Amino acid sequence: MNGGTPRGGDVRCDVLVAGGGPAGCAAALALVRAGADVVLVAPAATGRPPIGENLAPTAGPLLERLGVIGQLGLDGHAPCYGGRAAWGADGLAEVSSVFGPYGPGRHLDRARFDAALLEAAESAGALHRTGRIRTVERLPDHWRVTTGATGTVSARYVVDATGRPARLARRLGATPGRSDRLTAVAGHLAAPGGGTAEPELTSLVESTPWGWWYTAPLPDGGRVLMAVTDADLVAGTRLHDPVVWWARARATGHVRHRLAPWQGPPRQLSVAAAGASCTRPAAGPGWAAVGDAATATDPLAACGIVMALATGMEGARAILADHAGDGGALPAHARRITALHEEHLHARAVQYRREQRWDTPFWHRRHQGTG
Ligand SMILES: Cc1cc2nc3c(=O)[nH]c(=O)nc-3n(C[C@H](O)[C@H](O)[C@H](O)COP(=O)(O)OP(=O)(O)OC[C@H]3O[C@@H](n4cnc5c(N)ncnc54)[C@H](O)[C@@H]3O)c2cc1C
Repeated sequence: MNGGTPRGGDVRCDVLVAGGGPAGCAAALALVRAGADVVLVAPAATGRPPIGENLAPTAGPLLERLGVIGQLGLDGHAPCYGGRAAWGADGLAEVSSVFGPYGPGRHLDRARFDAALLEAAESAGALHRTGRIRTVERLPDHWRVTTGATGTVSARYVVDATGRPARLARRLGATPGRSDRLTAVAGHLAAPGGGTAEPELTSLVESTPWGWWYTAPLPDGGRVLMAVTDADLVAGTRLHDPVVWWARARATGHVRHRLAPWQGPPRQLSVAAAGASCTRPAAGPGWAAVGDAATATDPLAACGIVMALATGMEGARAILADHAGDGGALPAHARRITALHEEHLHARAVQYRREQRWDTPFWHRRHQGTG
């Protein structure tokens, strides 16, 4: 492939990647490393920190294969030595990653991590355009995509890496189907003034009758705290109210100990869809979806970034194979995405069945396989 000839406001390229998160950057990196001309279109950073700070140890080999591990400054993020969970019992169980084959994970400054990945994709040769995909039109041998104020891109292939909304795949007739209504009500607790004792560098999950809590330290000394329940249960639990959210967190058996340096909730909470989903189909002639746009996982698994990197690389491989004449490569990508989603649903059901202490709507749905 080769075809990137910037002309005024319009650009021609081999592959247009929509989205500058981990999946879009992984796809762009794998494609440019194989010699493709890539335009990556993503909006400017909002200043709001992206959700999802726990980088699993298994990300290491993927970042290594992408040839960017040295550029990401991972040592500047906090190590994550594993997780603790009060799940199915009052006591805490521990999962350590220190002695695992990949060593510790990371508690990321997520905005910095995403920005470093995007910079790595650009320095490898991807052309970054700030904007959003607006329209996409199929012409006989290429796609014509408008990107708002930044003009038009003509590309032989397009990659949807726009995250859960799967904005490009939807325009191409695919359907992102949600398997449940899981919702996270999250807050960032700013680093307390005056310094604190060395924070415990592990994540913590604690189940409750209405769902579960997750908390983890951030590299700047702050902390992320989130309540996870079903969308229709948020109003009844009043978890969207920062005062109630905080009071409930302070009434837990374990999470509350990690909140000791803080006197109250942050002023604002963010509410985000967090359910598992799968886009069907996740590829078609001339296009592929990757990352959350293809399949999103339950945050209990804390593997979304790894999945985004892996499916980004896999989507790039399918496009390169299609270009080389393998007409089965893109349909095979779509089948793999469906299989990954089904495998995730199975593993998740096993995990939720381990908690049998409450017969409440949240747990009842999970035990019956309806949530
Ligand atoms: C509550 C919660 C907690 C989580 N915690 C973790 C965790 O601890 N660890 C973990 O590994 N995963 C976690 N995840 C999942 C993880 O954040 C995602 O799986 C991951 O960000 C997916 O990467 P992505 O590149 O596919 O999508 P995203 O990171 O969502 O990136 C999408 C990109 O597309 C861009 N975009 C959107 N619309 C357009 C458009 N029209 N045109 C062009 N670009 C567009 C966006 O600006 C962005 O750059 C969590 C998820 C949730 C909901």
